[in-house]
Amino acid sequence: MELVEESPYRFRIDRHDPMRVPGVVFASRSLLPDAGEDRSLEQVANVATLPGIVDASYAMPDVHWGYGFPIGGVAATDVAHGGVVSPGGVGFDISCGVRLLAADTDRDGLRPRLGALMDGLGEATPRGMGRGAVWHLSDRAELDAVLRGGSRYAVERGFGVQRDLERCEDAGAVGDADPARVSERAIERGAGQVGSLGSGNHFLEVQAVDEVYDDAVATAFGLRPGQVCVMIHCGSRGLGHQICTDYVRKMEKVMARHGIHVPDRQLACAPVSSAEGRAYLGAMAAAANYARANRQLLADAARRVFARVTGSRLDLVYDISHNLAKIETHDVDGAPRALCVHRKGATRALPPGHDELPDDLRGVGQPVLIPGSMGTGSYVLTGVPGSPAFASTCHGAGRVQSRRQAVRSERGLDPRAQLEEQDIAVRGASRRGLAEEMPAAYKDVSAVVAAAEGAGLCRKVARLVPLGVVKG
Ligand code: 5GP
Ligand code: MN
Ligand code: MN
Repeated sequence: MELVEESPYRFRIDRHDPMRVPGVVFASRSLLPDAGEDRSLEQVANVATLPGIVDASYAMPDVHWGYGFPIGGVAATDVAHGGVVSPGGVGFDISCGVRLLAADTDRDGLRPRLGALMDGLGEATPRGMGRGAVWHLSDRAELDAVLRGGSRYAVERGFGVQRDLERCEDAGAVGDADPARVSERAIERGAGQVGSLGSGNHFLEVQAVDEVYDDAVATAFGLRPGQVCVMIHCGSRGLGHQICTDYVRKMEKVMARHGIHVPDRQLACAPVSSAEGRAYLGAMAAAANYARANRQLLADAARRVFARVTGSRLDLVYDISHNLAKIETHDVDGAPRALCVHRKGATRALPPGHDELPDDLRGVGQPVLIPGSMGTGSYVLTGVPGSPAFASTCHGAGRVQSRRQAVRSERGLDPRAQLEEQDIAVRGASRRGLAEEMPAAYKDVSAVVAAAEGAGLCRKVARLVPLGVVKG
């Protein structure tokens, strides 16, 4: 894959047939994926062939290989001009995302109680592949209410406070969710999992604000040096996974009828305005609401533990997903257009002044939550005006080792002991699960964030360090 360096953090893959637009990779030279090991840059070029794609097929600095689309990929299609939606451009964990809560306590004050706090959080957080969840739904009607209402429904039912919703993307629920487009199999898989973390890469972490880069913005976000925070990363569990599977299959079958040809079957897609496109978006929105309710419930459970063990409150900083397609208005060649913006392993990053921000954040921009790894650190960023890539940035550090490679490189080592040596408490997760998620499995999050900032995608606000982690 030939890359042209346009500027220090921006590389171009020139358009060649059958690409409709160029590829653009935001990264430093050292962050670029190794073509021998990871074919994600080929995937960036493949995405550029999709009908209706505008501007470019973008890759964020955490880009790595994914199903069809790369993880760390952003692609927008023009709805009125045959633009498509692709389930692989959202990913299997629909609306997987991150929620950050800030405690009214500092790390030094927490120290003596950290062990008890982690025990409590470990017990209160259902995790792993199987069943067990915070919420036992009474019937299908209640699950439908979750699929329509997301965090809003969870708050209505007493799992949170009204202010939480002001600090959620879409005020806690995506409109246009259509539970009738969700298969019975997806419902079955999701019914017993509302309020559960899921597997390996998902976590609930107790963190401390280690460094603040912008005092004014951090203050507006409710963050200050030394403060204790809780970061929750999870998604739509088996429900979202099944919806992705269902619609990849459906779209594979109808693509030819819509005159669509893609270089990789995993890019299965349909026009946004077709019956299949609309059905997928309705089901996807339902899964997005499920994911948001999921994070709301886990946050509520964490709040109760915090109150009991530390007497401290947890205020929501923000909740944002990093696997989603959204119909948004953006300028293309100087004119506003309705675009279907796919962000897969990429985070929306609204700039200051954006009208979708709540009043108290309008002046500073949207909080962007970037988990790094359980052994290193994580970041809070904010959106910047005039950024490229439809107001998007990275979503994490991004994998450099497959799970299998990570396990192999930890052979003979004790991941739990390594973390505990660094004073990071660990609850949950098998030894193998931990090995898969060790810092070496991921890129250096500081380098990723520096590249994202250097590319003009976002700005650093604060760095968080882990004190303890409950791993899925
Ligand atoms: P993904 O959504 O792609 O599974 O994960 C997003 C990012 O979360 C990864 O790229 C990685 O940087 C980060 N991450 C994975 N596990 C942990 C963890 O236990 N703690 C923190 N802080 N970050 C993690
Ligand atoms: Mn996920
Ligand atoms: Mn995720």
